[in-house]
Amino acid sequence: MNKLLPTSTAGSLPKPSWLAQPEKLWSPWKLEGEELIEGKHDALRVTLAEQCLAGIDIVSDGEQTRQHFVTTFIEHLSGVDFEKRETVRIRDRYDASVPSVVGAVAREKPVFVEDAKFLRSQTTRPIKWALPGPMTMIDTLHDAHYKSREKLAWEFATILNQEAKELEAAGVDIIQFDEPAFNVFFDEVNDWGIATLERALEGLNCQTAVHICYGYGIKANTDWKATLGHEWRQYEKIFPKLRESAVDMISLECQNSHVPMDLIELIRGKKVMVGAIDVASNTVETPEQVADTLRKALQFVDADKLHPCTNCGMAPLSRSVARGKLQALGAGAEIVRRELSGN
Ligand SMILES: [Zn+2]
Repeated sequence: MNKLLPTSTAGSLPKPSWLAQPEKLWSPWKLEGEELIEGKHDALRVTLAEQCLAGIDIVSDGEQTRQHFVTTFIEHLSGVDFEKRETVRIRDRYDASVPSVVGAVAREKPVFVEDAKFLRSQTTRPIKWALPGPMTMIDTLHDAHYKSREKLAWEFATILNQEAKELEAAGVDIIQFDEPAFNVFFDEVNDWGIATLERALEGLNCQTAVHICYGYGIKANTDWKATLGHEWRQYEKIFPKLRESAVDMISLECQNSHVPMDLIELIRGKKVMVGAIDVASNTVETPEQVADTLRKALQFVDADKLHPCTNCGMAPLSRSVARGKLQALGAGAEIVRRELSGN
């Protein structure tokens, strides 16, 4: 991609109300069978058109084809029992009822490959596909089999690598692993979290990214953020090791967050997806606000490595707010692009 400051989104976008109830996580599908398949395709076409109109350069499916960024992937694996649910603490923050690992985990067939092929057939723009990262997967499950977070993470890394290689073959340009758990379990991240991430992206020739955020704009997350104090220095604990890792791009939360921008210096050399859109607020940023965040980031990341992005996924927002935020992102990046090229 030769264009300066190519824009993208971190993950999900709202679904149309005829497909699933909007502004809700884990929202059940309203269609079934063939109608559901067709409905997902139609929703993908709509979200793709909206991204293109807003000037988003690297497009995605907006996760129209899945209910949740972690559980939908896990649903397709054997060794996990969705009937046997246990309440566990997720991200050390909130309790949720989750399925149990009851035997050896395996991927019997591709999970998102057909959806990626469909997206590929609909656009000539570069496409990005998101997968959950190994640590975030184990943190969204009850493990009654391996009885070791690390062991299970290595198993998932192998499975993710199989899926990633097939997504690459389907024409995906950037494969992104979502690891919000990286912002919580620092010792584990440094001991084996980054190593399992590298296993998941081993042998890929396409670009690879890791998305590390402070979570969706849901209450459990905004309450937690309120306890983090004035300066959020969580990234500082994992950036030195991430800088040495094999991952190409790192997606961060920068808009309205209390992350000191100078922490980005610690990953100098990596491509940085700078979150310039707050997903925990219904206030639509102005293009000038987006541009301002990007200018600040440019002090710590070279222009040819800066990818303007959103803080996180926008699934919980209304469609009109999300659309406005996409447009602000596209317009804000264009302001800075012009400044950099001297026009
Ligand atoms: Zn996120």
